[in-house]
Amino acid sequence: MDAFNAIWSTTYEMDEACGTNYHQRFRDYVQYCQDNDLVVDGAMTDPKGDRSLSPSQQEDPDLYVHINEIRPDGIVVTGAKAHQTGSVNSHEHLIMPTCSMREEDADYAVSFAIPSDAEGVTIIYGRQSCDTRKMEEGADIDLGNSTFGGHETLFIMDHVFVPMERVFMCREYQFSNMLVERFAGYHRQSYGGCKVGVGDVLIGAAALAADYNGVPRASHIKDKLIEMVHLNETLYACGIACSAEGKKTKSGNYLIDMLLANVCKQNVTRYPYEITRLAEDIAGGLMVTMPSQADLQHEEVGPLVRKYLAGAKGTDTVNRMRILRLIENLTLGTAAVGYRTESLHGAGSPQAQRIMISRQCNMEAKKELARQIAHIDTSLDKPQGK
Ligand SMILES: Cc1cc2nc3c(=O)[nH]c(=O)nc-3n(C[C@H](O)[C@H](O)[C@H](O)COP(=O)(O)OP(=O)(O)OC[C@H]3O[C@@H](n4cnc5c(N)ncnc54)[C@H](O)[C@@H]3O)c2cc1C
Repeated sequence: MDAFNAIWSTTYEMDEACGTNYHQRFRDYVQYCQDNDLVVDGAMTDPKGDRSLSPSQQEDPDLYVHINEIRPDGIVVTGAKAHQTGSVNSHEHLIMPTCSMREEDADYAVSFAIPSDAEGVTIIYGRQSCDTRKMEEGADIDLGNSTFGGHETLFIMDHVFVPMERVFMCREYQFSNMLVERFAGYHRQSYGGCKVGVGDVLIGAAALAADYNGVPRASHIKDKLIEMVHLNETLYACGIACSAEGKKTKSGNYLIDMLLANVCKQNVTRYPYEITRLAEDIAGGLMVTMPSQADLQHEEVGPLVRKYLAGAKGTDTVNRMRILRLIENLTLGTAAVGYRTESLHGAGSPQAQRIMISRQCNMEAKKELARQIAHIDTSLDKPQGK
């Protein structure tokens, strides 16, 4: 959604300014994906090497995706995209530049689509904490969540040929900023939905842990659960708000409100950490010290585990263990990749949103409001340093 919409409107405006034909190409590509019901990975993040240097200043040019060669029938590209969510279960990869480019970085201002199995592609699957638990025989309780999962990859392209009809930006460095900002804006909006869904599960798990611990009526537990809901719904409200305030672009699709989308994501970099802290508080220390499923099923040790891990009267010990493992999974285990660190860095690290908030917030208009209400006579002010 983020990549499709960002490229849709940017190619339209690029064609207007540069006389190119990217928008129609991209419409055809979207049609192809829809007709064939394809899953497409929105691939923006480059490995980036030395963060203080621009793409063209890097010692190794491949640390940012770049054009090796422009041929009449297509382009040849090299580089990689890091942290690609859902990459191995995607049919296609839709590549975009990772930051705004200057003229000297024009070879890095490139956007295109390739199938995941294009010649020259290598996909390296990322590690996650607790991932070897999945390989244990009969693994179920210890996984916390044996039904759903996610992954990230390092997606590498070594001299991959891209036919011209799949190229949507080729050296138009002036439009890299528009594409990056719009993609990031949509992506920051979507975090007001996806992280909130994970938050709902974690709040439910914390409430169940309180039930199994026998403290659901304790006033501080109820208050902590209310706080978790308040934080989670604030994120949801931001996601809805930036969508509702969206405006039509020249190309006809809709763009979220940039300021509110960045406020949404800035909150997402914080609130899941507080929600997690409260869930761990309610769960108790057993979520990280609990014996394994193998111990539970052991002939000699199993009965001891059941006896000493018993919770509230009338509740089942194994159910208690299951809910604690789910909390572990969401806060520290494999799902924490998506809930905590992805909340922080996904769609851009916190500072990236703060830069956008400072650009979008129109501070001068706010100052003018204050001046009018306070009856400020600006002719009396002597500007400093003059
Ligand atoms: C779980 C997960 C899933 C993701 N999924 C995807 C995906 O599907 N597709 C995709 O394209 N991307 C994806 N991302 C990537 C995400 O967008 C990046 O992690 C994010 O943009 C930050 O980049 P980075 O990880 O390289 O961190 P860095 O850029 O290295 O940031 C680390 C710190 O350095 C600071 N910093 C960086 N550069 C500078 C600078 N020049 N000056 C001053 N400070 C600087 C940052 O503000 C931050 O505090 C995913 C990330 C995660 C964690």
